[in-house]
Amino acid sequence: MRVRASLGTLAVSGLVRIKMDWPPTTAYLLQSSEGGCAGTCAFCPQSSSAGGGGDLLSRIRWPEVELRELVEGMRSSRLVRICVQTIIKEGFEREVIDILREIRGAGIDLPASVATTPVDVDLLREMRRLGVTHLGVGMDAATPEIAEAVGKPFRWEDYLRFAEEALEVFGPGSVFVHLIFGLGESEREFADAMIYLYSRGLQVALFAFTPVRGTPMWGRPSPDLAGYRRMQRLRYALSAGVPPGEAREMYERGRLPEDRRALLTSGCPGCNRPFYNESPSGPIYNYPAAEAIPP
Ligand code: SF4
Repeated sequence: MRVRASLGTLAVSGLVRIKMDWPPTTAYLLQSSEGGCAGTCAFCPQSSSAGGGGDLLSRIRWPEVELRELVEGMRSSRLVRICVQTIIKEGFEREVIDILREIRGAGIDLPASVATTPVDVDLLREMRRLGVTHLGVGMDAATPEIAEAVGKPFRWEDYLRFAEEALEVFGPGSVFVHLIFGLGESEREFADAMIYLYSRGLQVALFAFTPVRGTPMWGRPSPDLAGYRRMQRLRYALSAGVPPGEAREMYERGRLPEDRRALLTSGCPGCNRPFYNESPSGPIYNYPAAEAIPP
């Protein structure tokens, strides 16, 4: 079976040679399809609106590889998690299960995550039986209006309902809603979305909009770094257990705690997504390790 894997994942698995100061700690796999993803997200190079089928996702290259070969290489790596990211194509739901089965069949027992659009809850249960401990939900947009404007394949409310269903399957703390800052929402709307999601028991994995050549949103600016830092600090406070109402007050008064750990990549345990949203030359939105944060 062929899948895509991020270049960093191929490198830590010994399949390509590149120099990396900050290697990924999670193996990132992406489903592959000749035409790319049937979704039409205007920011995504995998989507049919960008022609699809190229090997970019955000600014990262994801070459195709034989899954068997990749799994072999993962054996001798220092990876701590596997993340399988779906695209929309015929049969993608069964293929995720096949990918997980092949990984488990090869004796790799690392905890796994799946990042997906809404799927049937029975499929989530099957994933769980195959060692999926955390789920990523590709909501991306902070508001229903932005979801529509950027061409998300489901309504914002559908992602929310799905994330809440997933919480029932995977348990508290294990569902990360992916949100992209800078798709056209106001900072306040973004803050409200995060506060709301945490009030529902969900977590947020924070991304910065990354303009990619060939997508309809190419040419739009990357988000303001100061605003992104505020969102990181707000997310960090919420994830550390500050009650949503209190976190809102801290945000409104400009009193969010300054903790360097807020600048780290957010998401499932062990997910560091090195340079997913930024060039290593900066500005850096998400730091892949504490040691990478300048003093
Ligand atoms: S937070 Fe990271 S590991 Fe979790 S689903 Fe998202 S990309 Fe995958």
